[in-house]
Amino acid sequence: MDVALPRLEQCHALVLNADYKPLSYYPLSLWPWQEAVKSVFLDRVNVLAEYEKTVNSPSFEMRLPSVISLKSYVKPARAPAFTRFNLFLRDRFQCQYCGSGQDLTFDHVIPRSKGGVTSWENITTACAPCNLKKGGRMPQQAHMIPRQKPYRPGMMQLHNNGRKFPPNYLHESWYDFLYWDIELEK
Ligand SMILES: [Zn+2]
Repeated sequence: MDVALPRLEQCHALVLNADYKPLSYYPLSLWPWQEAVKSVFLDRVNVLAEYEKTVNSPSFEMRLPSVISLKSYVKPARAPAFTRFNLFLRDRFQCQYCGSGQDLTFDHVIPRSKGGVTSWENITTACAPCNLKKGGRMPQQAHMIPRQKPYRPGMMQLHNNGRKFPPNYLHESWYDFLYWDIELEK
């Protein structure tokens, strides 16, 4: 129930794969309106829902798409990239030593000075104070054991974690295609 029409630059289109599932949950697959309109003209997408808002040119007027689906199926990436963002997402944006969500960095569980490598299996999310406190010590020495043993996540695990962090702005036409109900499934 929008009180005011969203501004043009806020009119993102939710992008669904050909199977009507969002291309990704987190970050949510959104395209700026220009890209959405272009794909409509190139006949690459189906429009499933629209905004009230229209764009005009001398030769046409169209309502901006709010939900579009790709005409051809895109195979989702199978292995998540080893990025800082995906690492935080795996660890749910929480320091694995104290649970804080502030000032996050990453920590080598087995320090580099002791031969620890930079990999999914040896890197954990740590807040700056915990990182500093642990320093170059082994987990047992520092009495700091990560709550969750670092592991290589699959795409589904990251998606499931991502669903716990919905973006701040959701257009009402998106709700039918998004399921933020992970907490209710227990
Ligand atoms: Zn901490």
